Amino acid sequence: MQNENIFICDNIGVSGEHLTFAGQDTVALAKKYGTPLYLMDEDRIRAVCREYLTAVKAAFGDKGKVMYASKASSFKRIYEIMREEGMNIDVVSCGEIYTAYSAGYPLENAYFHSNNKTDEDVAFAIEKGVGYFVVDNEEELYAINTEAGRRGMVQPLLLRITPGIDPHTFEAVATGKVDSKFGSAIETGQADEMVKTALSLENIKLAGFHCHVGSQVFDADVFLRSADVMLEFIRDMRDKYGIVAEQLDLGGGFGVRYLASDPVLDLPAVIAEIGDAVKNKVAELGIAMPIIGFEPGRSIVADAGMTLYSVGTVKRIPEFINYISVDGGMTDNIRYALYGASYTLTLANKVCEDHNMLCSVVGRCCESGDIIQENVHMPDSVTRGDILACMTTGAYHYSMASNYNRIGRPPIVMLRDGTSYLAVRRETLENIISLDV
Ligand SMILES: *Cc1c(COP(=O)(O)O)cnc(C)c1O
Repeated sequence: MQNENIFICDNIGVSGEHLTFAGQDTVALAKKYGTPLYLMDEDRIRAVCREYLTAVKAAFGDKGKVMYASKASSFKRIYEIMREEGMNIDVVSCGEIYTAYSAGYPLENAYFHSNNKTDEDVAFAIEKGVGYFVVDNEEELYAINTEAGRRGMVQPLLLRITPGIDPHTFEAVATGKVDSKFGSAIETGQADEMVKTALSLENIKLAGFHCHVGSQVFDADVFLRSADVMLEFIRDMRDKYGIVAEQLDLGGGFGVRYLASDPVLDLPAVIAEIGDAVKNKVAELGIAMPIIGFEPGRSIVADAGMTLYSVGTVKRIPEFINYISVDGGMTDNIRYALYGASYTLTLANKVCEDHNMLCSVVGRCCESGDIIQENVHMPDSVTRGDILACMTTGAYHYSMASNYNRIGRPPIVMLRDGTSYLAVRRETLENIISLDV
């Protein structure tokens, strides 16, 4: 029933009876590295980075920037890849800054986000030489100014503005509306107030503005609407305060496919459309063309990821439901529990069998909401020891993983050019008690 629907990205294939990922046998990888296991297709990550950089260059020339929103998946190796690919990055905590720093990522290319940076965060980021802060609120402006002043330097920053746009996606991931916990709204006058405050402070430099409206966006529309609002705001601020915005960061949120029924994002076309619209609007408003930034997170890494589990208990409750329990769950994938996320699943060692048994795939945690996916089809022959694959797990999986029930987090194995290597080790029992005094 399901097998033609598993090819949601061209790094997914079948060889013999087995599912392949990045051209490699997933059953063999599960055997070699154990389960649960995160796989990451490095070639795919690099290809997507290049696709973004090429599209942005074509649309904006030298006035384009791409930042990887590293909260989607943060570990040392990913920052090395981003450095090698010439990507800027977003970071949101000292942990991400330190991980990037430890990987030798040049932090002058980093943008520090978050709606609540503590004084310690501010000091640490400045100490490590983070290029830009993306400032959420007025208190933060003062905190950055104070810290930069103490060091006798001037810290560049962008102001996060909420353009007041409902992206028509999930409420839980909608961040550009006026009542969002993120940023300061134009509509309420708070954005203007922030600009005024920023201009009054000596140890910061207002380099431009930022907005981020949604997630899982497949067309240009949301970006066009926010670009319009933001460019008009830039014109208004120029008229009122005589300032030139060097940068306008339009955020991330580009969509990826979790199911075969999801649309395919035509990235070059979408970026080109945004490019044309921005250039026209800039000309119409008579403002200087800012550097335009994009911050994709999910779309850089999501379909480069796959999780492999071993099947344990198979529970058939006649006339009710069938359960397949796997050796992971909400500790390595919280997204179904968090917002009912959809996934494509298959049995990696029986990928050619009819997937005709309706079931729920559940985790091993002591929590009934610990579900990977409900109402999926698996081969009726499913049994303990089979390898179950969950696709599109490269974004917001490892980075959201937990130790609930004192379960160790899975390792990350990178797949590159037909070979595999460990980028993050499996968490051991010793690791689990390592902080207990
Ligand atoms: C989360 C986030 C992103 C990335 O969003 P994706 O949906 O993963 O592309 C970009 N910018 C900001 C400010 C974010 O909070």
